[in-house]
Amino acid sequence: MNMKICLMPGDGIGPEIMAQAVRVLETVAAKFGHAVQTETALIGGAAIDAMGIPLPEATVAACRASDAVLLGAVGGPKWDAMDPAIRPEKGLLGIRKALGLFANLRPAALFPELARASYLRPDIVSQGLDIMVVRELTGGAYFGEPRGETLVNGERAAFNTMIYSESEIERIVRVACEIAMKRGKRLCSVDKANVLDVSRLWREVAVRTAAEYPEVELSHMYVDNAAMQLIRDPSQFDVIVTENLFGDILSDEASIITGSIGMLPSASMGAGGPALFEPIHGSAPDIAGKDIANPLATILSVSMMLRFSFGLEAEAGAIDSAVKAVLARGYRTGDIHVGEGVKVGCSEMGQLVVDAL
Ligand code: NAD
Repeated sequence: MNMKICLMPGDGIGPEIMAQAVRVLETVAAKFGHAVQTETALIGGAAIDAMGIPLPEATVAACRASDAVLLGAVGGPKWDAMDPAIRPEKGLLGIRKALGLFANLRPAALFPELARASYLRPDIVSQGLDIMVVRELTGGAYFGEPRGETLVNGERAAFNTMIYSESEIERIVRVACEIAMKRGKRLCSVDKANVLDVSRLWREVAVRTAAEYPEVELSHMYVDNAAMQLIRDPSQFDVIVTENLFGDILSDEASIITGSIGMLPSASMGAGGPALFEPIHGSAPDIAGKDIANPLATILSVSMMLRFSFGLEAEAGAIDSAVKAVLARGYRTGDIHVGEGVKVGCSEMGQLVVDAL
């Protein structure tokens, strides 16, 4: 296979973790006989420094011309005082919009070797934690119109609109069903149908859409209960699908209980065009340039890319297994080094994964 990948290292630790992810990508491609063609594009603070804007047209064009996009992270104190309209984070929102990425996939899985890093009690963690949160990314209260500020009885009031059309619900539930089919075939749709009209439509369309996947066992949960159940017994979940605002909160909750922000990848997918893969963490300016960042979230983002954009299951599995093997041998970057194991830096961790491959 010939893979055309657009790389956007971004800011802070972005270039360091990207370099290791690219080594792993090239290693796995060579091992399985694939050709990789990469192009590097500017985004975030790096783009502001070079061109004055966080998302140059050339970057959008390079992403559109690729099969998949791999991003490091954007942002940092250097650009914090800037006009919010041209801050680094605008680049990220802009590229998601330009590529029409409506489905955000956030796996929250705990490597048994890192169980000690989890914030949950050992008896809860030992039940297992392997969840895929599928969050709707372009609708709901974050984008709904009308929005704004008004005067009500002489005082200021502000409002947003949580709105979803049937087609928006249908396409995200379909993505979640497809993913459930490749995993444990259990899908939990999270809503607030006891209170919100938009949730009642969500539930109705979810039932209708999931019926097209008779093998997928669909359940429903109110969002307040889902927030509790994620802490009480995360092992009950396989795939969760939910709207933008609920998904923003639940996907962060699901990932942070693993205790390892440097381990978690994510994918944002649209309808047919290139998808975007990135670690969930930010640019970690506090440790940038020191070669101590954990590159595994970005390396695991490469695995997601091979699996979801190219259907290369064996290749993705090889990366996952290599990461597991390195952890099993006791190697840890600082963020996941909890009292035991051998502490290694960013490039050393990348080399270990390459060697394991
Ligand atoms: P952050 O995720 O960058 O860092 C939070 C903490 O986790 C820091 O102590 C950092 O050192 C640590 N950390 C993060 N990734 C790590 C890794 N791979 N290895 C080891 N330690 C790691 O979040 P923040 O500090 O809130 O934000 C820093 C900057 O990143 C801000 O400018 C923010 O806007 C931006 N940000 C970008 C993204 C993105 O690009 N997707 C996401 C979140 C934050």
